[in-house]
Formats: sequence, C-alpha cells, structure tokens
Amino acid sequence: MYWDASIETIKPADLQVLQLRRLKETISRAALSPFYGQRLAQAGVSAAQINRLDDIRRIPFTTKDDLRARGREMLTVPLTEIVRLHASSGTTGQATVIYYTRGDIKAWADLVARSMYMTGVRPGDVFQNMMGYGLFTGGLGFHYGGERLGALTIPAGAGNSTRQLQLLQQFGSTVVHIIPSFALYLLNTFAKHGLDPRDLPLRIAFIGAEPHSEEMRRRIEAAYGLKAYNSYGLSEMNGPGVAFECPEQNGLHVWEDSFLLEVVQPQTLEPVGPGEVGELVFTNLTRQGMPLLRYRTRDLASFDDRPCACGRSFRRLSRIQGRSDDMLIVKGVNIFPLQIDQVLMAMPEVGSHYLVEVSREDFSDLMHVKVEVQANFFQEDLKYLTRLQKRITEALKNELLVTPRVELVEPNILPRSEGKTQRVVDKRPK
Ligand code: ADP
Ligand code: ZN
Repeated sequence: MYWDASIETIKPADLQVLQLRRLKETISRAALSPFYGQRLAQAGVSAAQINRLDDIRRIPFTTKDDLRARGREMLTVPLTEIVRLHASSGTTGQATVIYYTRGDIKAWADLVARSMYMTGVRPGDVFQNMMGYGLFTGGLGFHYGGERLGALTIPAGAGNSTRQLQLLQQFGSTVVHIIPSFALYLLNTFAKHGLDPRDLPLRIAFIGAEPHSEEMRRRIEAAYGLKAYNSYGLSEMNGPGVAFECPEQNGLHVWEDSFLLEVVQPQTLEPVGPGEVGELVFTNLTRQGMPLLRYRTRDLASFDDRPCACGRSFRRLSRIQGRSDDMLIVKGVNIFPLQIDQVLMAMPEVGSHYLVEVSREDFSDLMHVKVEVQANFFQEDLKYLTRLQKRITEALKNELLVTPRVELVEPNILPRSEGKTQRVVDKRPK
C-alpha cells in the first residue's frame, strides 16, 4: 500500500527532526553557491542559527525574478556534476531554468514513483504518458517515475489525438498522465471514431499541470470510466511529484520529507493557518545541484493538517485556486479562472473548451466568455440556444458577481494548444 512506509507514515515529531536536519544541511549546501552565499551573508544567517523549523523565517524569500536573473549562480556544484536541465514552460513570462545532478534525477524519479504507487499503479500496468517530452518537466519527470516504479512506460508525448487513441488500443494502457483540458478534447476523437473510452482497460489518470475544478475531474472520470488523481508540481521544485492525491481524493499530500512547505499571506508574507488560502512557499530539503530556499511559487492554496484516512502523515493541499498573477479584477471584483471552470464544467451542455476575454470599452471592464457547446446540444433550435445562453450567463453571474457577455460557439473551434491551455486573455491596456 505504501511505496516507503517508514517515510509515508512517519510520526509528526520524527518528521520535524528529519526536516530540521535536512533544512540545516540544505542551507549549508546552498551557501556554497554565489547567489545564496551572498544572500545569507547579507541577512546574517547560517545553518548554525537554525535551531527550530520556525527559524526558517530568518531566511529571505527567493522569487521567480531571482531565478531569472541569477539562476546560474544558484548552483552548488561545478557543471561537470550537472546531467540535465529543464525550464518552466514560461506561462508567466521568461522561462526559468533548473539544473539537476544525477542524484537529483534519481530522487525526483523516486518521488514520482511514490506518487504513482500511492494511487494503485503497480508493475504490470501500462502507463501512457501524454505529456510534452522536452524542457517541460511533465514528460521526462513522469517517464522516469513510471520506469522507477516498474510500469511499462510509453513515451507518447503530447497532442496528436488519433495516435494517442491508437496507442491506447494497441497496448491496452491502464494508466495515463494527461493535461485535463486535453483529456476532454480527446473525447471528440473517440466520438469521431465511434469509440467509447469506457471500453478501454484504463483505470487511473493523473491530471495536473493546470488549474482545474472538481467538476472537471468528475467529468473526466465519468467519460473514461477511471479514477483521476490531481498531480501538482513545478519545475522549480523538480517538476511533478511535489504534492499528489491519495485514494481518498481529498487534498494533495505534500512530500514533506523532501519539501518544506510554508503557506503565507501574499501581501504581508505572514504564515496563514489551516484552511486559509495563501501563497505556497517551498524549500528543497534534499536537492543537491540547485537547492532553493523559501521559493515563492505564486500558487494559491490552503493546507489541511488533519489526519488522512490513508494513514499518511503529510499535510494535504487543497486544489490550487490559481496563481496570484492569474487573478482577474473585473469591475473591481476579484475573479479566479477556477470559479468560471467550476460553473461551466457543471453544465452538461457545455463542451470541452471555453475562452474568457477581458477588455475595456468606454472606460468599463467587459468580460466576454466564449463557450463551446456539446455537439448533440448544438443542433437544437435557436430558441433553445438563447435559453441556454441566458442560463449560463445567470450561473456565471451568481458565482462571479459580475455579468459576463456569453457567446455560444460550435464544438472544437476555439484555439487549443498541446500543453497547458490558455483560457483567459486580458486585453485591457496595462
Ligand atoms: P510554468 O510556470 O511556465 O507553467 P511549470 O511547468 O513549472 O511552468 O508549471 C508549474 C505550474 O503549473 C505551477 O506553479 C502551477 O501554477 C501549475 N500547476 C501544476 N500542477 C497543477 C495542478 N495540479 N493544479 C493547478 N495548477 C497546477
Ligand atoms: Zn491520504
């Protein structure tokens, strides 16, 4: 049931001892790098002054801008010991680069294997990895994890729906890793070939990399006849395998033996309590080549420290609500794209894709939501569509407190990308 029971069910007191030891080691190691050597000296902190986990608050935060400007100066080893690099997909600006030693790759593969094992994947499973194999960590990260676990791992790569379908059929894949928006999109390909994905031996999907709602997960589970588990990670902390759902599907366990988690109020940077949404801040506890201290992810979520029925000791994160830089302020109201996802995905008439455009007209914000309608509903008469459009507008207004202009469009006409889908475009002048 556990990949590594002694770690996964570690007693809270023992976990703290382990974390403190690793934190001190990591700080000493980071201090070898030009960047942290300077930062820590300026702040007047060294590992010697860290006597409790709370003392981490004496260390300055590391930001995405630090990584962009001075990432190479964060290496603690000569380049001869670096065997790989990855870069973030650059969703929010210039990409950041992370360097891995051989040991870092091994530790990362182990965490991904632990995550997959937790959901029930075993040797003998056929694992089709439908993620981009490249600088993006979702491809190779899960690939190494699948092999480490002993699953037959198919490097399918992203996109190419017809080919994905062929591979699923030919090899009888039982487990997939797939971007949630692509999982919905792929359903069209099944329909086109007159096939039902529930007839396949698929039983587990890992969905992550982009924010998605509970409604979207349920949709994917129902359409494919499988269990879908939320997977969270970011390249700055290796990639996938930072936090992952267990069979309870009730929050994502953070692998706290490897990452020290803080959740802070994004403005004051003070810690928040359980259940309160804040920005996730991570410190590597085991990374060798490029350990990051107090990295501000900009991802917003809350944590739950109550025991989990699965028996694992690690705290659980809520679904990621979005990035602090994703939050839209429309007519003075704060809106997270996830709220829109929730409303739309709960309506059976809504297809697999939608696009939100925010613009400014006559000094007033305008939110325009283009919604794809499922093929079987789109053929209905105009009166029906007008009613549907009203219903969607009402539902969005109730959730967002802003009235959007809703436009219904045919299935599969909105632009799609192979990787993370961009669903929000803010066209307002900055
Ligand atoms: P980029 O920052 O360019 O998107 P990454 O590939 O490193 O590059 O992506 C990591 C980010 O993806 C996370 O910081 C988070 O915003 C998002 N993400 C990853 N997994 C999830 C998930 N399960 N739910 C919501 N967002 C996620
Ligand atoms: Zn659990």
